[in-house]
Amino acid sequence: MNFSDSEIVASVMANDDHRLVDQAADADVIFLNTCSIRDHAEQRVLNRLKELQHLRKTRPGLVLGVIGCMAERLKEKLLEHDELGMRVDMVAGPDAYRELPQLLADVEGGRQAMQVILSADETYADITPVRYGGNGVQAFISIMRGCENYCAYCVVPYTRGKERSRDPASILNETRQLIQAGYREVTLLGQNVNSYRYHGENGPVDFTTLIGRVAAADAQLRIRFATSHPKDMSDALLRQMAAHPNICKSIHLPLQSGSTAVLQRMNRKYTREDYLDRVRAIREILPGCAISTDLIAGFCGETEEEHQATLEVMKDVGFDFAFMFKYSERPDTLAAKRYKDDVPEEVKTRRLTEIIELQQALSLDSNKRDVGTVQEVLVEGVSKRADSHMMGRTSHNKVVVFPCATSRPGDYVQVRIKECSSATLKGNCIDH
Ligand code: SAH
Ligand code: SF4
Repeated sequence: MNFSDSEIVASVMANDDHRLVDQAADADVIFLNTCSIRDHAEQRVLNRLKELQHLRKTRPGLVLGVIGCMAERLKEKLLEHDELGMRVDMVAGPDAYRELPQLLADVEGGRQAMQVILSADETYADITPVRYGGNGVQAFISIMRGCENYCAYCVVPYTRGKERSRDPASILNETRQLIQAGYREVTLLGQNVNSYRYHGENGPVDFTTLIGRVAAADAQLRIRFATSHPKDMSDALLRQMAAHPNICKSIHLPLQSGSTAVLQRMNRKYTREDYLDRVRAIREILPGCAISTDLIAGFCGETEEEHQATLEVMKDVGFDFAFMFKYSERPDTLAAKRYKDDVPEEVKTRRLTEIIELQQALSLDSNKRDVGTVQEVLVEGVSKRADSHMMGRTSHNKVVVFPCATSRPGDYVQVRIKECSSATLKGNCIDH
């Protein structure tokens, strides 16, 4: 999400006659695009801001700005030099990127500037992101912004505002531009893509229709999407995925907890059974589809039994991959107001370790099932570990490493899988 936002910011700045530089030391303006999702993320931003202060000595006019979620959450607190212990020149929230050039003009002469008003309709639909730092094969397309689900632990509804969907015509235009530029995979991004709904002149367009249109743009383009909220994941979408071979057979479906009582405290609006029912539908309509998830260890009041329930559901589903976190209380969220963050740190750590160890075993099982099969791999580039090898991904979003001097980024190659670890498949190319 942040990566995608940074590409919009780069575009706004390029239109105002600025250009990107590789090194912070060469920049006149540095924006830190920030995440507030966990305390750890915010601490890293503060450390980075401290590190960057020394550049003011060599570049006296340097403008240091904080943009994105942390800007929205902390607002003028980020401009208070005494509180923060350092200087920040500019603060801009996620709906203020168009105003960055104006804000830059405002800070001239040593003033500070801030814009943190959230919008009900900003989607940056007309801004073509400047793709930088990518591999030229995969790109992200933001299809909606904001979130109104108010999961009790989550800061996003406060930092990114109301949910709004982007005009499908602009999404399809961006898709076509990417295809022309040689991209082979797009990921449609939103906090809850299943509730995408655009009310246009010809009636509403939902996510199932949108993804069908994007998939029809080019059979050689792979389509992924994230994130799906289990409460909104419809059979119609699964059938649409089944109908289009180029929609990757991989679904990110955050569980958060396997205990219905915890899910209720989290305000997730589904039960353990509802979740398992969605998994059953995926297995039925899309046999073999990969399922990945997000899990939170040690949410407020989580008992040992409730933690065990998470491990049980993990085993039942056999997730292929997971992002796993320790609960981090965020100020002003429902959980911060209603519940005590009462699971001791060492218990959170132990539960997270159990979750991670189980997931490693499940990922290894999942990868072992692929050994001996032939997988279609979209080549992304040279493997980081061994430059005699290429790397790419399967439709199931698994990383495959293979020796193949003749394949190029953007090629589809058939790879016979020979061995695996819990994180990677290794194999040999059979059609080059
Ligand atoms: N919109 C997506 C997720 C966005 S945040 C969804 O609803 O699934 C990504 C993940 O961060 C969440 O799924 C959750 O697992 C984790 N997360 C969010 N807030 C958190 C918090 N306060 N503490 C720990 N993990 C959190
Ligand atoms: Fe946060 Fe829940 Fe919205 Fe995801 S759906 S962004 S977890 S509030």
